[in-house]
Amino acid sequence: MAGIVVVFDFDKTIIDVDSDNWVIDELGFTDLFNQLLPTMPWNSLMDRLMEELHSQGKTIDDIVGVLKRTPIHPRIVPAIKSAHALGCELRIVSDANMFFIETILKHLGLRDYFSEINTNPGFVDEEGRLRIFPYHDFTQSSHGCSRCPPNMCKGLIIERIQASIAKEGNKKIIYLGDGVGDYCPSLRLTEADYLMPRKNFPVWDLICRNPMLIKAEIHEWTDGEELERVLLQIIGAISSMEDKSAAQLFSSTDCKLQTISIGAHDAFPKALSVPQ
Ligand SMILES: [Mg+2]
Ligand SMILES: [Zn+2]
Repeated sequence: MAGIVVVFDFDKTIIDVDSDNWVIDELGFTDLFNQLLPTMPWNSLMDRLMEELHSQGKTIDDIVGVLKRTPIHPRIVPAIKSAHALGCELRIVSDANMFFIETILKHLGLRDYFSEINTNPGFVDEEGRLRIFPYHDFTQSSHGCSRCPPNMCKGLIIERIQASIAKEGNKKIIYLGDGVGDYCPSLRLTEADYLMPRKNFPVWDLICRNPMLIKAEIHEWTDGEELERVLLQIIGAISSMEDKSAAQLFSSTDCKLQTISIGAHDAFPKALSVPQ
């Protein structure tokens, strides 16, 4: 199957909102959230807010009910299913939490399409309160990346994914994201990889400030419809490159790698042109 690992951010990439804000806003805790935000890290604040929800009588069922109503573009589910059907391995790297992500993915019938979800632990305790913990326990040690929030450096997660797939041969990564936290992993992608930043969102703004820092080939998208089209276009182009190189291995001893890489770039008439 295709030697492609598609890595998705979750909030505002798979779903169309930030899941933390969605739950807090829908359950009426926006004011408390805004009041406490300057006083603690976002991840700690979410655990604190879940305690507050619990003490004010909001149940797990109330949270699940809100999560099931999470806005998502109608082309996202088909896009994920198509990428999976084409043989791609799908993973999530998200600063949301496991409870929100799994609840939404199960509701959409998508949970089994993802081989790995890297996110903050989230689970219901014996009192029926949702607990949210940091992916990286910053009370023990710092992850050492000043670019990222204390609880998660997505760049380190991408490095781990790169190390694990390096053992499986020549795999390429397609990374999709929208937020500030998606910039660190974007910087770690290689020339062989593809970056799909959401246009006019924070990661795209950061990329545009200095596009030369990004080694991966950049393809922007604006909504679920364009995400689907661009993602499947990239997967198709990589697959045809693989077919060509496999055919050449069998048909000739000539080294035609030059031809293959030029052909690959021809396949992307809509590559991102970033304002300098
Ligand atoms: Mg996001
Ligand atoms: Zn980082």
